[in-house]
Amino acid sequence: MRFRRAARVILIGAPGVGKGTQSERLLRRFPQLSSISSGDLLRHNVKHRTPLGIKVENTIKSGGLVSDDLMLRLISNELHQRGWIFPAHPEGHVMTLAAAGLGAATEPGSSSSSSSSNGSSAALDAETAAFLSSPAHARGFHAYGPPRVNEDPSASFLLDGFPRTAAQADRLDDIVPINLAVSIRTPLEVIMERIGGRWVHEPSGRVYNTSYNPPRVPGRDDVTGEPLVRRADDSEEVYRARWERFRETSEPLLEHYAKKGVLWEVEGLSSDEITPKLVREFERRFID
Ligand code: AMP
Repeated sequence: MRFRRAARVILIGAPGVGKGTQSERLLRRFPQLSSISSGDLLRHNVKHRTPLGIKVENTIKSGGLVSDDLMLRLISNELHQRGWIFPAHPEGHVMTLAAAGLGAATEPGSSSSSSSSNGSSAALDAETAAFLSSPAHARGFHAYGPPRVNEDPSASFLLDGFPRTAAQADRLDDIVPINLAVSIRTPLEVIMERIGGRWVHEPSGRVYNTSYNPPRVPGRDDVTGEPLVRRADDSEEVYRARWERFRETSEPLLEHYAKKGVLWEVEGLSSDEITPKLVREFERRFID
């Protein structure tokens, strides 16, 4: 199914509510949609030891929040690389990293671009990382005013994990207008029950759940027969703390998008219950 207009969507939901699952399903259902996960982008930078990755490594490890400035640079660069926004220029030219003298990028959206519309252009090289580390004015990003937004339906995206705070949402508004903020809700007790039944096989990362995906032999991995363990952060206490932290930061974020008239809430006890509602809403807003 094809979009009639560009979908610029953010997903908001507590940890464990199934944002990743919904993203995957939406991407499969609507081929024009791509996703950007801020956590994945950051982890990619850490793994590849880019200057930005080195800068944020400790913050991520300790579960803190990366500074708004760095996050904004990272996200706006990603949007730019994928051809979804163009830095404004008085003569209507697009300012690429190459044009800025850094030679790290091709024309956004061109076929030779390093990022396909559904792939990630997170493969930052040292030059791109240096670009990200420089202030916006030094690289001409906002030098000529707010970026122009690609209105083509193929420039449709889902942001996962960003913005996380109202301050980040404010700054994102200056770059690209979000036209749907989805708040995914599942009752706390239901998520706790799911987490309570979760067992993992650590060497492989295989995850089981005693209620809906049990191992063939209780307490044993299906493939190796080795014992299953509980994840340290799957404890009730740890989860309650994460939920509380999410509630505190998400309230102003939801308010931000409610004021703009783009907030839509969906509730369900499972991902399977939520998906059809979400798909229907996407069709209503972007296809019908
Ligand atoms: P996630 O995979 O979304 O849980 O993100 C992993 C980590 O990346 C978080 O614990 C934060 O340290 C950092 N992070 C991701 N998104 C953001 C954001 N929007 N603002 C600040 N830090 C973030």
